Amino acid sequence: MYDQLTLVADKLRARGFEAAVFATSKEASSFILGDIAEKAQVAIGGSMTVKQMDLHAKLREAGHEVLWHWEVEPAKRGTLLHQAMNAPVYICSANAITTDGLMVQIDGNGNRVAAMCYGPSTVYVVIGRNKLVEGGLQQAVKRIKSVACPNNARRQGIDTPCAKTGSCDVSACKTSMCHMTVSFDLAPNGKRTCVLLIDEELGY
Ligand code: SF4
Repeated sequence: MYDQLTLVADKLRARGFEAAVFATSKEASSFILGDIAEKAQVAIGGSMTVKQMDLHAKLREAGHEVLWHWEVEPAKRGTLLHQAMNAPVYICSANAITTDGLMVQIDGNGNRVAAMCYGPSTVYVVIGRNKLVEGGLQQAVKRIKSVACPNNARRQGIDTPCAKTGSCDVSACKTSMCHMTVSFDLAPNGKRTCVLLIDEELGY
């Protein structure tokens, strides 16, 4: 799989992203920690990958200020999400990436895709090998709606058809988490987006 990820990294570079491949999440974490300026403010998007990597703790140990809405009570989330949009550094994962280097995200609130598109001047996207999809946008969306969304809904206790059956049923979905689909044909202008492909199963 490492060799395949290397080819995906080439495709990402052709789209204007920085890209690197790591054999382990530990190595990817070390890269990020070595790349960020001292005592930076770092915001994190909702991400099981980041949680699994324990990046939030590692960043704090290294002296950075971490803004993560997953760690605060619901009443403080709105303010923190706005602060995250103005942080210089942002870390998140992708829901899917195609072998052609197309990153695809489906968001409910839009805070993650907003920060990826605008706001923070440096964005790190950490992606485990399990997010790699053969095919194009349709296959990426299919993966998200049959793997990422059901698991996310179950984790949050959201009553969606996909949580029950593993399949999307938009017409019966009253509490959809799928409000917007964003794919990155090219790296956003005016900022640095660094994609870290990791040869491990991370997140969903
Ligand atoms: S629209 Fe609803 S059922 Fe379909 S994947 Fe999204 S949350 Fe699940």
